[in-house]
Amino acid sequence: MKPTLVIIGASYAGTQLAASAREYGFDGRIVLLGEEPDAPYQRPPLSKSFLTGQFAEARLPLRSPAFFDEERVEWRPSTRVTRIDRDRREVVLHDGTSLRYDHLALTTGARVRTLAIEGAFYLRDLADARRLAEASRTARSVVVIGGGYIGLEVAASLRQSGAEVTVVEAESRVLARVASEPLSTFVLEAHTAQGVQFRLNRKVAALHARAGHIDTIELDDGARLSCDLVVVGIGVVPNVELAQSCGLRMASTPGGGVAVDAYARTSDPAIVAAGDCASFVPHGSATDATDASALRIESVQNANDMAKTAAATIVGRLEPYRAVPWFWSDQYDLKLQMAGLNTGWTHYALRGSLEARKFSLFYFRGDALLAVDSVNRPQEHMLARKLLAGDLHPTQQQVSDDAFDLKGWIAQATTRPSA
Ligand code: NAP
Repeated sequence: MKPTLVIIGASYAGTQLAASAREYGFDGRIVLLGEEPDAPYQRPPLSKSFLTGQFAEARLPLRSPAFFDEERVEWRPSTRVTRIDRDRREVVLHDGTSLRYDHLALTTGARVRTLAIEGAFYLRDLADARRLAEASRTARSVVVIGGGYIGLEVAASLRQSGAEVTVVEAESRVLARVASEPLSTFVLEAHTAQGVQFRLNRKVAALHARAGHIDTIELDDGARLSCDLVVVGIGVVPNVELAQSCGLRMASTPGGGVAVDAYARTSDPAIVAAGDCASFVPHGSATDATDASALRIESVQNANDMAKTAAATIVGRLEPYRAVPWFWSDQYDLKLQMAGLNTGWTHYALRGSLEARKFSLFYFRGDALLAVDSVNRPQEHMLARKLLAGDLHPTQQQVSDDAFDLKGWIAQATTRPSA
């Protein structure tokens, strides 16, 4: 009998895992279970061009309808898994039926953190995006709670559509969780120049509604912001309850996910996990995914690349996960592209010009290059990914010099015979 692969979660990681399993020669049955009614779709446009009406819903699907037939992937929409029975190797569905598996993949993603605010909008899935797009068509003054990527991308989109926008952020700077101070400052100034207002170090204390709609937000310093739309983007929590309740090992970090090793294997050899719901240890680290150094990365790149690792594991090809993390965000005319993780940087070098809004920031710890953020320099972002993937470390002086031929240096460094 051919084996069955059941995948729980039909977004980036789940869809990629199905495609890669086929590509790597998995010939059994593949069942892809999705809780949402919509075919797997792209999420990045939801907070950007979809919101401004410039990206049609018909363009959102991640794969063509033919993909599921051609690759023999049984995609089941509107299907919720309520329990995993590891002894029987079964998943139990919301309608009480069950599905047997030989391999199980958890690609359950994450859900929004919520605030106890009746009438606020969130943005995570397509249903949220449709609701927000509809409501924002008539909104004239918007309060965005949270200055992370979601908050800032929504702020940029709605500001471009002509609304007055105020962003309320609990931290002292925007993008505090993910970006360095210099980049946060640059992004804040770019929004301010567009007329977005910021309330940093502030949280919501109370709200006032009229006829069922929030019309005033009161902050913890007593300030009152009138608004006709409130959007909350204050982070996500991983969907780990299924994994937890069937006793899989979890990462010990706060907000941590299902613990996986470098091959995307959970503590049960029949179960892999990938994407936003999984915590892993970087390849080569001596620690274990339950350790405090475990990473849970929320990005499209991580979902896709970890899914490929998990698919390889399923077909018996153990290939450690070692992809360079990268992220991007579009706000106004700014293309922000981040490569690597800058945690622990001690100094940085600026390449290019802040005034011209075309530059990269190279982050170092000692002599080691950790990460590069690029603004409107897409080619440099690609070079940064090459540097990080190749463990190549130009000096701070070299990268600061815009005339320094980084591309040529990489070509030389990669062809140089190792000593
Ligand atoms: P996020 O990056 O965690 O940012 C949320 C921000 O809101 C944090 O700075 C947080 O501060 C702040 N916050 C928390 N509670 C608050 C409160 N009560 N009042 C005001 N501010 C508060 O999360 P996100 O922007 O919601 O994004 C959700 C996920 O989607 C993330 O994984 C993100 O990376 C991903 N995403 C990525 C992209 C992209 O890559 N372009 C675009 C959109 C979304 P604390 O840290 O103190 O809680």
